[in-house]
Amino acid sequence: MSKHSYRNGSPAKLVRPLVRELHAYVPGEQPKVKGLIKLNTNENPYPPAPKVLSAMRAAIDGRMRLYPNPSAQLLREQLATLHRCSPDQIIIGNGSDELLALGVRAFVEPATKRDSTASESSKSRVQYFWPSYSLYSVLAETHGATPHPVPLLGDFAIPSVPQLRRGQQWDFKAALTFVTTPNAPSGRGYSTQELDALCSAMKGVVVLDEAYVDFADENALELCLKHPHVIISRTFSKAYSLCFQRIGYWVGHPELIAALHRIRDSYNVNGLGQIAASATLKALPYYQRNFRRVCESRSRLAQALTGLGWEVRPSQTNFILARPPGPPARQWLEDLRRKKILVRWFTAADLESYLRITIGSESEMDTLLRTIRSLSASKTTR
Ligand SMILES: *Cc1c(COP(=O)(O)O)cnc(C)c1O
Repeated sequence: MSKHSYRNGSPAKLVRPLVRELHAYVPGEQPKVKGLIKLNTNENPYPPAPKVLSAMRAAIDGRMRLYPNPSAQLLREQLATLHRCSPDQIIIGNGSDELLALGVRAFVEPATKRDSTASESSKSRVQYFWPSYSLYSVLAETHGATPHPVPLLGDFAIPSVPQLRRGQQWDFKAALTFVTTPNAPSGRGYSTQELDALCSAMKGVVVLDEAYVDFADENALELCLKHPHVIISRTFSKAYSLCFQRIGYWVGHPELIAALHRIRDSYNVNGLGQIAASATLKALPYYQRNFRRVCESRSRLAQALTGLGWEVRPSQTNFILARPPGPPARQWLEDLRRKKILVRWFTAADLESYLRITIGSESEMDTLLRTIRSLSASKTTR
């Protein structure tokens, strides 16, 4: 029942039809129940470095009344040094999600009713491989642009450029193309060489979404310093344990980055987040140790699950996509939840037989495996 006290009538018709009909992005559940092992949204099991937490605590005082630096100047300078580029090649966002939205608004035309010619439709296309990050289509639709998903190969590989040309579905002139690399939700990594070949064939803007790249064998940062139409998207959320603070950034050609600065909110990045991210960059060895721990847990988990009859996809991220044996994945999802372990299941037809499991701490992975073993035992006797 509604708790509101409005008199009569609904204001729904005041909302733009496009927005009324929009299918919003569905984030993984953030449960209110205590004591759950949370392996559903790819958060890092390890806390931020002690120095990051103390820098944030030290900043919490009367200065909260002031606006933060509008362009996150210090953070951009630090990142420019790290990536050997200039600060005008970097923009910080309220999470990389904000930048993905800004990219759509800056580079893609809303589709018009009679957008008839091929070149017209390319201008309003947001292209991406499928499966990948399901936010891309929502951002395209919100903007009135056209989502243009093109399937990955069966093993989640990116088709080669000749394959894409033969397939005739891929639009080399799409205004904006998102490539999740390594891929989510499969975890598959791609070589810089194959990404370079793809980027070289593209005419529109290409964003390489490297949200998970710190857990991968290689990164493609060099491509955004070499190709004027290529942008790299990174986030402090997953690898740097800062989901809560919402800090992401893009690196690319100064003119593309300037376009994004022009349309962003003046104070889009909160001050504590800027401080946390700056302190993070001074504690990189702490994080690099944790990346190694996550990758080691990932191989142990993959090996153990394979031994239990699961089909585990190779991963270069902090999660694995795995197909459980026996009952449907959805049943496993519910059984694990009853045992207080939360994993992610996707309804899409090509994903519904899988579970996506975030790599947690060593002890969380032990509990997960113990639970799966006991569930398997009870399933076979059922
Ligand atoms: C998590 C994620 C993001 C968004 O991260 P932010 O928290 O908004 O920085 C972007 N792309 C992919 C593929 C992700 O998984």
